[in-house]
Amino acid sequence: MTDHKVPIDDDSMYANVYSFIGLPLSRDIENAAVDAVVMGVPYDLATSGRAGTRSGPTAIRQSSANLRWEEQRWPWPFSLSEKLAAIDYGDIQFLWGDSSAMLEEVENHAAMITGAGKTLVTFGGDHFVTLPLLRGHAKTHGCLSLIHFDAHTDTYDEDSEYNHGCMFYRAPKEGLIDPASSIQVGIRTDYDRDNHGFEVVDGHMANELSVEEIVSRIRTRVGDTAAYLTFDIDALDPAFAPGTGTPVVGGLTTSRALQILKGIADLNIVGFDVVEVSPAYDHAEVTSLAAAAIALQFLYMRASRI
Ligand code: MN
Ligand code: MN
Repeated sequence: MTDHKVPIDDDSMYANVYSFIGLPLSRDIENAAVDAVVMGVPYDLATSGRAGTRSGPTAIRQSSANLRWEEQRWPWPFSLSEKLAAIDYGDIQFLWGDSSAMLEEVENHAAMITGAGKTLVTFGGDHFVTLPLLRGHAKTHGCLSLIHFDAHTDTYDEDSEYNHGCMFYRAPKEGLIDPASSIQVGIRTDYDRDNHGFEVVDGHMANELSVEEIVSRIRTRVGDTAAYLTFDIDALDPAFAPGTGTPVVGGLTTSRALQILKGIADLNIVGFDVVEVSPAYDHAEVTSLAAAAIALQFLYMRASRI
């Protein structure tokens, strides 16, 4: 045997689990053949409730082992690898305990990777990581529309500079996103009725409207603008995502979320993240598997436009 590489593309569901769905572990973003880059941000210092999302990226990769055997993911009509070449960049490193270092590293990586023409899919981390991700994406793509799944609006004007409820209060002020073409889905905690200009499909509507109606509202709002999709796993009901910092009952099912995402696959979505997976509060990988399936959905959505 002359090949000394560890086989990370093992398609078993239990062996050699190091990367997301067995993608090559690589930081070669200059490689023109690469379309998409997956990376993790192991950070949880901005949480208001239960901590532990620093272990989110690792848990999502581990759970993705259950998804890597299926060459063509149901119900998509093509195989991911036929259309899209992706790599797993691993996790961003920063001085532990230093939120300003995290902000700088994540913004720089997001700007560099998107600037190289790649689509970035990020695993949080608590939701605060989306602020530097938006800063990095905006450097490449300009002001973006936001498609935001969450139980919370995260538009809170709070004094703390580092908290996971302030990103969408600050991002419009920084010119990173335009609320007029942005929409929030699954909201079921109190918010200002003008909601800083964002359209809201609240938790009850997200459960009662048809998938087609929700898809139609997102499509109408976002149109053909360049959009960033952020998925706080607490948009899902705690029955489907118990392992998260600030769970709120009355949320979406995983099935609905996957169908809504599939319905907006052809929008011009230039970046994705799934955040707030906190494995210490998870059971039987329910939450991390949901996050892994949502991240795989992002890759299929992107691939469907190639
Ligand atoms: Mn939330
Ligand atoms: Mn959030």
